[in-house]
Amino acid sequence: MPAPHTPSGAAQDDDLVFADETPAVAPHGSGAWRVLIVDDDADVHSTTTFALGSLEMHGRPLAFLHAYSAAQAMALLERERDIAVILLDVVMEQADAGLQLVRHVRDTLGRHDVRIILRTGQPGYAPEMDAIRGYDINDYRTKSELTRTKLYTSVAAAIRAYQQIHALEDSRTGLAEVVRANTELMALHSVGEMTLGILREVAALAGQPADGLLCACPPGTPAVGWQVLASCGPSASYTHDGMLLRGAQGPAAAIAQALAERRNLVRDDHLALYFSGKAHCDFAAWVRLARPLDGLRRGLVDVFTSSIAVGLDNVALMTDLHRAAFYDPLTGLPNRTRLVELVDDSLQTRADATLCLVDIDQFAETNDALGHQFGDALLVAVAQRLRQRLDARLALARIGGDIFCVLGQDDLIDPPAVQDLFAAPFSIEGQDVQVSATLGLVRLREHDAGAADALKDADIALKRAKSLRRGGHFYFSRSMGVEIRERVRLMHALRSGFARGELFLAYQPQVELAARRAFGAEALLRWRTEDGRFVPPDRFIPIAEYSGLIIDIGAWVLREACAELVRVRAAGHLDFTMSINVSQVQFRHPHFVDMLRQALLDTGAPPERVELEITESMAMEEPDLLIERLAEIKRTGVSIAIDDFGTGFSSLSYLQRLCVDRLKIDRAFVTEITDAARGSSIAEMVIELGRNLGLSIIAEGVEDERQAQILQTLGCPLAQGYLFARPLAPEALIEWLGSDVLTRAA
Ligand code: C2E
Ligand code: MG
Ligand code: MG
Repeated sequence: MPAPHTPSGAAQDDDLVFADETPAVAPHGSGAWRVLIVDDDADVHSTTTFALGSLEMHGRPLAFLHAYSAAQAMALLERERDIAVILLDVVMEQADAGLQLVRHVRDTLGRHDVRIILRTGQPGYAPEMDAIRGYDINDYRTKSELTRTKLYTSVAAAIRAYQQIHALEDSRTGLAEVVRANTELMALHSVGEMTLGILREVAALAGQPADGLLCACPPGTPAVGWQVLASCGPSASYTHDGMLLRGAQGPAAAIAQALAERRNLVRDDHLALYFSGKAHCDFAAWVRLARPLDGLRRGLVDVFTSSIAVGLDNVALMTDLHRAAFYDPLTGLPNRTRLVELVDDSLQTRADATLCLVDIDQFAETNDALGHQFGDALLVAVAQRLRQRLDARLALARIGGDIFCVLGQDDLIDPPAVQDLFAAPFSIEGQDVQVSATLGLVRLREHDAGAADALKDADIALKRAKSLRRGGHFYFSRSMGVEIRERVRLMHALRSGFARGELFLAYQPQVELAARRAFGAEALLRWRTEDGRFVPPDRFIPIAEYSGLIIDIGAWVLREACAELVRVRAAGHLDFTMSINVSQVQFRHPHFVDMLRQALLDTGAPPERVELEITESMAMEEPDLLIERLAEIKRTGVSIAIDDFGTGFSSLSYLQRLCVDRLKIDRAFVTEITDAARGSSIAEMVIELGRNLGLSIIAEGVEDERQAQILQTLGCPLAQGYLFARPLAPEALIEWLGSDVLTRAA
């Protein structure tokens, strides 16, 4: 057995200086450093404790555990953790008992942190160098070598190594925590979720209960305080109406200081965290600490706050974007995009839901008459009333200018009840405004396509409702959908048909009743499809208008009719006038007059021999634009007729301002002319009106001689109709003009 070693001499010459060692991080655990002495010689135990008893490292003393055999040590190590150093005798029960214990500690117990110093009595029992390397042994000394000073040094070094291993371990797990926290927070999509997540993660990293608040801090000193984005634990009580009020103490004061210093402040009982934001807003948090933070955790909190600031920024931006993308800024209601999502949800859950569009009647007029600000205020008031009065289970959205949408269970949506919400006037800027609403509804149950289609269908129902009666409502039905699809099909066919040259003009002669002489013709658009079928203009022109195709088609009509006029003139009919129909969409186009000029220029048609027909209904909309446009057209030398006259309600004075040249009596009034009613007919009134205003008058749709004669006696000099000629193919017109059919017929 090895002789017990007596520690040598004085401790005063010891070269161990621990006092100035400031740890980078706090030591693992607290209390004493635990040192296990394993030796079968009891004397070694007492001399070692005597030699090291006064050693302190980082303010922590040593505490000793004792084992007198390898077996005893094994048992002890099974139950005791947190042992920093083992001072281990090599030779005990067996010559290699110490080394076997080392293997057991490292391999079997998997304890890699504990430091091991091997001591042996006889140099001859030195373990192989391989074992020392392989089993992470800190020191290997013969007992005689191990003076008190050397023992001190060796144990101190071992404790330092133990401490570093733990510090590394802690920061590795700590950093892994930060990375995990970051990744998890990035997956959250709302400011609320994310900020609450941040508070919880800070608390977790600090090893504390979650208790704190997080605020948005835009630049400048706030008058009242900061908006609290999230709070948790007892700190939630610092929040008043969602604000953290300014104050000289507590969280508000700490946050103000962190913002002023632009850094994290760590106090014993709280943290004030500063998150520097890029998107014109910083953030700050206050977290209560149940106990002071150690250095490692401080470091982790710092790393976390600087890494999360970017994410916080992104979430703030995302929330802004989310709001802009899904909410109407004026009313704060969900917008069309959001509604489509909601409808999709309803479609998926197969709920018996109804989609109801609420269109405010005559909103455009109110807006024009009273100004946009007033219009906006009205929309806000409507939004408020709908939100307050409708069942809270119903979703509400604003999906367009003056169109709101209500979505929810069938039985919660009653059209008359929705309309009743508009019964009381809205008070806007001190004025009472009375509006009504028209509803278009679709039952999602009867609908198998997506949300966008459901909305389209509701829109179709709304249009139908409006065409029937303002202030009414209409439910979408499948047959309406079929009709619409047919129109869409026709639109595509028209587009390609126009490109393929399937459109052409027919010309219906216009005659002087007295002389029975043709003085002009009206150009009428025809579409013969590939398979030889004719699609009537009343059917395809509205589609061309609706699709915008009428602009190109209309320009082509202008040019084609002018070209025909030039050909007719070339055939010798110099006083011939060409009448061309112009649709409202085309007429409103900003370049319409340019297109007209271009057609005249390109074909060389004389403007004074060209007449444009606009409908009376069109003459009644947007009077200012119309008057201006008409004057511009008149300057080109082209004259103007009002088509289908008598069907609208143009006022006399208005007609005068329009400076038109001719009125065309609508076919309906020509048809109703009978001998009996001749005195009081609309046709007669129109003729009278034209005469008073000094306008030329023409009757259209004259089908028989009787009508022609009555019109003539009533004072209508000009006419057009099947009586004289059907619309003629281009080749046929000049031939017809050259013949004497009219005079023969008369
Ligand atoms: P509109 O301008 O009032 O044209 C007169 C319509 O009455 C023509 O129908 C013509 O064929 C028809 N008509 C003429 N005389 C008689 C008659 O004695 N009896 C009967 N029953 N009908 C007669 P169409 O060609 O079917 O045109 C329908 C409408 O389509 C036109 O009404 C006009 O509003 C529009 N349209 C035709 N061509 C064009 C065009 O080039 N551009 C635009 N924007 N609209 C056009
Ligand atoms: Mg016409
Ligand atoms: Mg007409």
